[in-house]
Amino acid sequence: MKNHWVLILLFLGTQLFAQENNSQLTATIIGSGSPKYNTERSGPSVLISYKNTRILVDMGNGTQANLDKIDTKIKDIDGLLFTHHHLDHNEELAPIFIQSLLGGNRTIIAGPEQTTSIIDHILSIYKEDIDYRLSKSGRTLTDVTSKYEAKNLTGNNTFQIGDITVSYTPVNHTIATLAYRFDAGDTSIVISGDLTYSESLPILAKNADYLIMDSGGAIALGSKRKETKTNGKNNGAKEKAHVNLAESSQMAKESNVKTLVLTHFNVTDIDEDATTAELRKNYLGNIIYGEDLMTLQSSHNSTSSENSNSGVRNTNNLENTETTQQSVPNTKPVKQNQQESNSQKTKNTAPSFRKMLENMDTNNDGKISKSEAKGKLKENFNMRDKNKDGYITEDELTKRNR
Ligand SMILES: [Zn+2]
Repeated sequence: MKNHWVLILLFLGTQLFAQENNSQLTATIIGSGSPKYNTERSGPSVLISYKNTRILVDMGNGTQANLDKIDTKIKDIDGLLFTHHHLDHNEELAPIFIQSLLGGNRTIIAGPEQTTSIIDHILSIYKEDIDYRLSKSGRTLTDVTSKYEAKNLTGNNTFQIGDITVSYTPVNHTIATLAYRFDAGDTSIVISGDLTYSESLPILAKNADYLIMDSGGAIALGSKRKETKTNGKNNGAKEKAHVNLAESSQMAKESNVKTLVLTHFNVTDIDEDATTAELRKNYLGNIIYGEDLMTLQSSHNSTSSENSNSGVRNTNNLENTETTQQSVPNTKPVKQNQQESNSQKTKNTAPSFRKMLENMDTNNDGKISKSEAKGKLKENFNMRDKNKDGYITEDELTKRNR
């Protein structure tokens, strides 16, 4: 009998924790790589979550596989958004759209010009296949067309998807491209899309918690450093597709964002020290190097699961995020931008290495071998094991902090 009570309490505790975790706007980097195929970094995609609303922004190669790893079902996604229609950003649109058509939530599909035409083409190319699949449940295409709304977004505007407010603005790239801002609760997250310096971005991203940014110019580990000018403005000499570090850090500074998150890396290993040194010429806030399945969550309102019994508010989401089994933003609060208000400081914290050792270091040697590693750490073992000695040490895990 006693055991039943323990189980019930455990169940309630898990539910409470799940709710707390959902009550904040979060972004999970589904894919941090591309355009080069990379087993460690899927194509660009970010999942935005808040309460019962899920929005997927871009759908590069590997999106479905990574969504599956975090147990997110296509049928539960409410919005499919595109920053732009370069192939590396929409490669998995067709299978994802068709799955969402066959079952699940009503979906808003939106992006720059071409979005509705791409959807129409998918429907016409796969008509027979879709008809066949629908016939199994006695439906036709006409029965399901009300299940999605596709729209082309122009100019600057704001709309609602479920519990999340979505704003967008055009940015400069080689084709029509949008940056998005997501607001819910007291958190705001911005995704830049691919871009060169764009005056519109700092306006959209003003005071956001996270700015997820095109990593253009990031320095690969072992490569020669490229010097960039500190003035981020594009001098317009020749058309280019992506920012350099001076431009991305300039926009982060003008936006006054708390945390800059770089993503869309074309190599696996980034020289984070060298890259950060370049970014620091303009931007003094937190810097995170994106990785697949890393979840970004701001600390306002977050409660530690360990502290929930005592009802103590914890501004440090360390324990909380660790329990989600996903990687965690790994920055120490660095020198804060002077304009930042003290009340809104975001603390990003790494999973504590001590906790990881408790979980995984079975032979108690103070480091984690590949056979001891679990979950995300196991998957990304080779990337994290910077000196390739077969062990992950505290130093290797906290290197990302700078
Ligand atoms: Zn592009």
